[in-house]
Amino acid sequence: MTSVAGPFGEGAGIAERAGRILDRIAEAERKSRRPRGAVRLIAVTKTQPLPRVLEAHAAGLTVFGENYVQEAAEKIPDVPGAEWHLIGKLQGNKVRKAVSLFSWLQTVDSGKRLLEISRAAVSAGRTVPVLIEVNIGGEESKSGAGPEGLPGILAASAGLPGVRVEGLMAVPPFSPDPEASRPYMARLRELRDRLAGELPPGSLRELSMGMSNDFETAIEEGATMVRIGTAIFGSRTGRG
Ligand SMILES: *Cc1c(COP(=O)(O)O)cnc(C)c1O
Repeated sequence: MTSVAGPFGEGAGIAERAGRILDRIAEAERKSRRPRGAVRLIAVTKTQPLPRVLEAHAAGLTVFGENYVQEAAEKIPDVPGAEWHLIGKLQGNKVRKAVSLFSWLQTVDSGKRLLEISRAAVSAGRTVPVLIEVNIGGEESKSGAGPEGLPGILAASAGLPGVRVEGLMAVPPFSPDPEASRPYMARLRELRDRLAGELPPGSLRELSMGMSNDFETAIEEGATMVRIGTAIFGSRTGRG
């Protein structure tokens, strides 16, 4: 068992920390009167070497998130049966590879990218569920579509083969205080509700928001996917 250092439970192993996170997710679901299992844990493995990913997998985690297509390509074939989500920026020249590796693409931010995914998915003979990444804090340093661009992106997705827009994803401006994220998360949910109101019932079900320091707030605000790295694996080294 690997021991990990960092601010969340010094010395605990990956399995133990993953178990604690799952407990906290269940408790947050209960407190916000959401059904058990309403929220999926995406374990974020960027910069984590394969043995630690395998340790998490052996502990029962089955859904993983990676930020870089190339880094993911080095791990995915060695973790059979897991589901992988791309949560980092998707470059146009990586679309084909991303479609071949990932189950979900969470960071679509333009109609152009949707079209490229559609083409790659059709030629791979699959349908790719995607989320639209929203730059919810309007930060210049962050990727994601502006809220005003969303109707156009959704319009571009209508009738596109091989791609299904399932919801929205965001990374609010960083703050160590989880309460600072709440207004951004509420705004993402409101945006989703408004857009879904114009679409057939059951559209845009997914809201991917919440990370190690603010996932409970995210669950209270309606997250269906939380993306958690540090609280499971400890601090990252290197890029990411
Ligand atoms: C790295 C990353 C995470 C995980 O962040 P932690 O604070 O380590 O839990 C979640 N989402 C995205 C988009 C990330 O890049």
